[in-house]
Amino acid sequence: MKLAVIGTGYVGLVSGAGFSDFGHHVTCVDIDAERVATLLRNDIPIHEPGLAELVRRNASVGRLHFTISTAEAMRGAQLAILAVGTPSRPDGSADLSYVFEAARQVGRAIEGFTVIVTKSTVPVGTADKIREVIAGVTKQPFAVASNPEFLKEGDAVNDFLKPARVILGAEDPRAIDLLRELYRGVMRTGDRIQVMDIRSAELTKYAANAMLATRISFMNELARLAEVVGADIEAVRKGIGSDPRIGPKFLFAGAGFGGSCFPKDLRALLHTGREVDVELDVVNAVERANERQKRVLGERVIAHFGGSLAGKHVAIWGLAFKPETDDIRESPALVLIEQLLASGAKVSGYDPAAMPNVRAQLGISIELAGDPYTATTGADALVLVTEWHELREPDLDRLKAQMRTRVLVDGRNVWSQADARKAGFTYYGIGRPSHSQ
Ligand code: NAD
Repeated sequence: MKLAVIGTGYVGLVSGAGFSDFGHHVTCVDIDAERVATLLRNDIPIHEPGLAELVRRNASVGRLHFTISTAEAMRGAQLAILAVGTPSRPDGSADLSYVFEAARQVGRAIEGFTVIVTKSTVPVGTADKIREVIAGVTKQPFAVASNPEFLKEGDAVNDFLKPARVILGAEDPRAIDLLRELYRGVMRTGDRIQVMDIRSAELTKYAANAMLATRISFMNELARLAEVVGADIEAVRKGIGSDPRIGPKFLFAGAGFGGSCFPKDLRALLHTGREVDVELDVVNAVERANERQKRVLGERVIAHFGGSLAGKHVAIWGLAFKPETDDIRESPALVLIEQLLASGAKVSGYDPAAMPNVRAQLGISIELAGDPYTATTGADALVLVTEWHELREPDLDRLKAQMRTRVLVDGRNVWSQADARKAGFTYYGIGRPSHSQ
């Protein structure tokens, strides 16, 4: 099958490469000419484990192509997959201008019956608007469908190649057949395709993200309580996670969730609720709890030093919003950096993949170090924000030698409190009393 994927960001590039790996002929298009030039040179513009190999393998056998021209990508395509961004507008609603513009470009290039599939996360009812946009620019036959994407950055290739389920919102039988054919390659071990109406598919994506975010905010809230009442959130986590009704995933207390999806999708869901006069109290609370949680690490450091960080140097390990990605969109590290700088601190940071993005966004307001220990030279405190594997077992002797004051703030509860104390550090975790391990 021949298809066009519109947008080569985290979702578009993984999907385009993934579909070509299933044996389809895919042309990926992006308006960012530099990004396309990078891809044409066989380089990968984002950090995503396994993606470079997947792209190169399929490009080298001629199944995966890149272009800046939607018309070229659409030549002979039966399907067009919209995978462009849907960022937040100031009022919290999803900005659909990229989606509609991409739909318009696709519509103008349709030749014969084509299915336009939205993979971008879009509010309920968007497919109807996309249908109108396309009908306004073509007389050719077409159908619209929704195929929300559930991949996780950092493990996106695995998620895409081995999906837990594929949600297809489609009403036209020809669209359903084409979409089933599109995913046939990954359904050999059992059909995990769920076909539903388009509105339910659109809402399923928001429901999934809101549910996952709810678990995190719930644990963060309990962590704040645990600290005050002398309980350990890590013990509580294990205690409830072993209940099969609850399960162990997404129960880690931490520095608040960030990234390109949860925060913006919660805001968009809340906006949808406001538009139709349905109050979403739970979702609202999840968002508020997260905004508060993102400030916890900074408040901890500032409180430790008596309310001001003038003359202090704080080092940060991990700047990406989570491990194994270079994505810093809405990363808790950005909130922390802002708090530290506002309180007068000098800030240095290290991240295995995200430093170019941090440099591009923050300029020279913080120092970036080539390795984790250099970042801690002369530091008064070290804060772990993102639990990359290489940052999980710090060399405490080395830190002792490098740092001016021995304060560790473990924003992910991955360091040993006992070891840190034994080595003479003041240790702070999230939701942990002073005596716990
Ligand atoms: P992104 O910002 O990384 O990539 C979007 C790409 O689309 C950019 O490269 C941009 O230049 C390109 N683009 C914009 N308009 C275009 C046009 N008219 N034609 C061609 N290209 C165009 O975004 P992303 O993180 O890949 O997310 C895309 C969508 O998928 C969003 O709606 C997001 O919510 C959703 N999503 C993201 C993830 C994730 O983990 N990042 C997971 C699931 C769903």
